[in-house]
Amino acid sequence: GRPILAIVGRPNVGKSTLFNRIAGKRISIVEDKPGVTRDRIYAEGEWLNNYFSMIDTGGIEPDSEDIILSQMRQQAEMAIETADVILFMVDGAEGLTATDREVANMLRKSRRRIILVANKVDSHTPPSTIYEFYELGLGEPVMISASHGYGIGDLLDEAIKLF
Ligand code: GDP
Ligand code: MG
Repeated sequence: GRPILAIVGRPNVGKSTLFNRIAGKRISIVEDKPGVTRDRIYAEGEWLNNYFSMIDTGGIEPDSEDIILSQMRQQAEMAIETADVILFMVDGAEGLTATDREVANMLRKSRRRIILVANKVDSHTPPSTIYEFYELGLGEPVMISASHGYGIGDLLDEAIKLF
């Protein structure tokens, strides 16, 4: 079947915004309030005649860091089991968090194909926080702005190379 691309990351980093952009329509719910993706949502994507399936992960998360972390572990495990390529999304405006580190460790140990994506880089000058993400050991972050549509082509170029 088609390769599967899964988007994993903390609530509110912009996973559903990117998912909708790649899908070319609004499928996932985007909200200022973290965690409104209901469990997981699937869509088809295409880039330069490469067809793939996409999974947007999320969940209905209470405002507790513990619960967010346990839910993210489950989502990362699901992605590790089902996806060919995992987009691990972090918030380029906010910078690195402890939860990012935990999830990055899980993903790195899985030895799956992972692309580190720093979202919310809305301007040409990357924020100084971007350098923190190199610590994750997942390579160079691909900087995008999902809401403005910057960097998405470069990101998909990288993704299809890994299919
Ligand atoms: P999710 O919880 O990871 O699925 O995140 P959402 O896609 O629901 O987005 C959470 C919030 O971040 C929404 O208010 C989005 O409009 C906003 N957002 C998403 N992408 C960007 C971006 O590239 N730049 C900025 N500034 N905000 C963004
Ligand atoms: Mg979402």
